[in-house]
Amino acid sequence: MRILIVEDEKKVASFIKKGLVEESYAVDVAYDGEEGLFLAENNEYDLVILDVMLPKKTGLEILKELRGGNIQTPVMMLTAKDSVSDKVKGLDFGCDDYLTKPFAFDELLARIRALMRRGTKEKSVQLKVADLVMDLSTRKVTRAGQDIDLTSKEYALLEYFVRNKGRILTRTNIAEHVWDYNFDSFTNVIDVYINYLRNKIDKDFPHKLIHTVRGVGYTLKD
Ligand code: CA
Repeated sequence: MRILIVEDEKKVASFIKKGLVEESYAVDVAYDGEEGLFLAENNEYDLVILDVMLPKKTGLEILKELRGGNIQTPVMMLTAKDSVSDKVKGLDFGCDDYLTKPFAFDELLARIRALMRRGTKEKSVQLKVADLVMDLSTRKVTRAGQDIDLTSKEYALLEYFVRNKGRILTRTNIAEHVWDYNFDSFTNVIDVYINYLRNKIDKDFPHKLIHTVRGVGYTLKD
């Protein structure tokens, strides 16, 4: 999952980024409204965390332009404590959720998980493909009941595959959702990570989940 944070307070932005990276999300940060809008319009984010008070363009203006341009990326607004009108406007302009500053990081994480579930029919915190189970709240992964120990990047990659099970994913799709904008597309890092993941989730099991689609990319299926 790739997340954009638009927040001009550097301390808050880096606090959120650090926490999200620890949870395996790929994270980009914009420090003003114009840069935020540009990034949100030109990348495929899974979520935008949008502060309301921003230089150059406010969070509400960004939201309005995104929705006006038919970009439906889920948006979570960060609002000041007693600004009821910002919340109302945010919801009217099409934000999906909001969080009042200051907030506990665990609440942010729980709300992100809830927003991610909203897009799918998935109501539980567990994602399943065949005998593979990912628990999104404990971050525990098992296959046929055996614990599988993944690094943060491997976990993020697996989560992206599982959420898109049955779809053919190109290397570009994978880079856009699992890596941040510092990703160098001229390396074979994606293939390397897929190899790591296969060694952990497929190698010791007769039924393989990850399949190579020659010339296109990869797919994960039951
Ligand atoms: Ca601000």
